[in-house]
Amino acid sequence: SGSGLSLHQLGQYHVTNGIGRLTEGIMTKGQGSYVEYDDGKRYLDFTSGIGVTSLGHCHPKVSQAAAEQCLTLVHAQCSIAFHKPYLQLVERLLLMMPHPSLNSFFFWNSGSEAVEAAIKLARVATGRQNIICMQGAYHGRTFGASAVTRSKTIYSEGTFPLMPGVFSIPYPYWHQHGLPPSTPPSELASKSLYQLDLVLAQQTTPRDTAAIIVEPLLGEGGYVPAPPEFLQGLRDVCDKHGIMLIVDEVQSGFARTGKYFMIEHSGVRPDIMVIAKGLANGFPLSGVISRKELTDKLKPGTLGGTYAGNAVSCAAAVAVADAFKQENILTNVQERSRELFAALESLRSDPDVAPYILDVRGRGLMVAIEFTSPNPPGGKLDPFIKPDSPKMMAQRVVKTCVKEGLLILTTSAYEVVRFIPPLNISPEELKKGMDIFTEAVKAVVK
Ligand code: PMP
Repeated sequence: SGSGLSLHQLGQYHVTNGIGRLTEGIMTKGQGSYVEYDDGKRYLDFTSGIGVTSLGHCHPKVSQAAAEQCLTLVHAQCSIAFHKPYLQLVERLLLMMPHPSLNSFFFWNSGSEAVEAAIKLARVATGRQNIICMQGAYHGRTFGASAVTRSKTIYSEGTFPLMPGVFSIPYPYWHQHGLPPSTPPSELASKSLYQLDLVLAQQTTPRDTAAIIVEPLLGEGGYVPAPPEFLQGLRDVCDKHGIMLIVDEVQSGFARTGKYFMIEHSGVRPDIMVIAKGLANGFPLSGVISRKELTDKLKPGTLGGTYAGNAVSCAAAVAVADAFKQENILTNVQERSRELFAALESLRSDPDVAPYILDVRGRGLMVAIEFTSPNPPGGKLDPFIKPDSPKMMAQRVVKTCVKEGLLILTTSAYEVVRFIPPLNISPEELKKGMDIFTEAVKAVVK
């Protein structure tokens, strides 16, 4: 009404091109593991809105809790007053933390904002400025968060200079070291830690270094679990020099990897942890968690934000935390994970497909398959695909899956397809998606 344009035309002519989109249609409905579009087409959702709707779309208890909060109090504003769901969420999260020292919370809206707050906290708490991040990392699109993001140039192209004082080391991912996929994780860990020693000796002295920021399972950089000895090595360096270890669990947190937080698999203690995505199953909410004696170094007013820790989002997150327990989500993740890996290994054992698969990896329901393209531009298969080479194989597989009713995403600058389905997905739904994926890969390599 008014513009004379259809909704599709409004999207085409009046929304920025700066957003890349997997599908062109208009999503109208989401229920459990499925979404529906305005043309009536239904898709099985292996994206979970990029790791957000972990309990499936419109989980009844989460939606109910949010609806009730909507009719009670929508907005309290964190600089004006606490609201009940804020504190109820703190109570739930205290019981989920990977280490008891993580006992002080600040909630924001997005992962990027929480990363900004984590950097601010590390700088104020240490009185130092510099940050060390990982090559391949993704921490968000705001200026501080994009300064510590190194997974694709598109995230920063044309926007320099970003926040200064950022240094980087290679993530223990074979691509980042120019090594073959068969390289043992322990070797990758020690190579990355050696680079850390070099950076601290040659580029930023520990006395100037406030924090090391790391995703315990590299997300947008390719779905690579960090070897536990790497994370332990970072902890040791941080302990030795009084550097803060910031662990970004935005994508890997909230049961995604079969434990509440990926860092639990290694037993390493973060100084600061960042959470978002699955926390509120689709309502915007993120958090920064640290030790009370550290967060108390921030003077009142240092942190804030109009919508930070919104009451409806917090009420949804309380319901998410309760549902995780009531519905045995961790067990489902572990069981479905085994089936997902088995399906990928069975695909890899197909002799027609095997030459195009470089790697199958991940943890829980955060899993990836890395391809090398058939008929690449140079004519021969190349395991050392450079970042930004044409992502033929991964993109063709994804396109075929979407055509067949499965929403699925690539990740990283390499040929990687990621599996990030709802954590309460049923065995039947998982099998259905993996069947579509398997057929798509076979069709593409034919
Ligand atoms: N950190 C990680 C590990 C992420 O995966 C993301 C989002 N993909 C972010 C931070 C940024 O979160 P947001 O998009 O909510 O700003």
